[in-house]
Amino acid sequence: MLKLIREVLKVGNATLPYPFEPIEQMPGFRGKPHHDPEMCIACAACAIACPPNALHITTDLDQGYQTWSLFMGRCIYCGRCEEVCPTGAITLSPDFELAVMNKQDLYEKADYKLAACRVCGTYFAPVKEIEYVTALLKQSDMSEETLKDTLTLLEICPECKRKNDVPKMVKLFQTEGSDAH
Ligand code: SF4
Ligand code: SF4
Repeated sequence: MLKLIREVLKVGNATLPYPFEPIEQMPGFRGKPHHDPEMCIACAACAIACPPNALHITTDLDQGYQTWSLFMGRCIYCGRCEEVCPTGAITLSPDFELAVMNKQDLYEKADYKLAACRVCGTYFAPVKEIEYVTALLKQSDMSEETLKDTLTLLEICPECKRKNDVPKMVKLFQTEGSDAH
């Protein structure tokens, strides 16, 4: 018995005092995804990539907004959302604790306004996504003429582009725009 006690004292603590003290995470540890609603453009890339469908995008075409949501109860910490996010709005954090008193606390949501098509008025894409693409296009080395046409196209929904003579529409809008100035 004394030999065993001596051995135990020699080895010291073999376990961590968690949860009474926080656990230090190793570099590269994959914990709960952290979502920054300001950086998010509601592009839905993360929702498409998420293997267990923990991420969802729902669209309300009547009210004109899109809702991004994460249900932590389904997340497997795989990091696919972080890999595909174009803006860095979702990143895996060192936090891993999931215990909650209310299941609703495992949900995270954010709403984003949709832009209405310039032709038919139907809501079709998140305003923030259009602004993001506009900023990227402006940084590209496109000619001024092509940039103008492309930016006008961003204001038209896919259905109207399919149904109409797109170059004619673009020219018409640009003429209207310059007349208004
Ligand atoms: S870490 Fe994986 S499972 Fe969790 S939200 Fe991101 S993509 Fe989905
Ligand atoms: S991929 Fe990034 S920007 Fe796109 S919806 Fe997900 S969190 Fe938002």
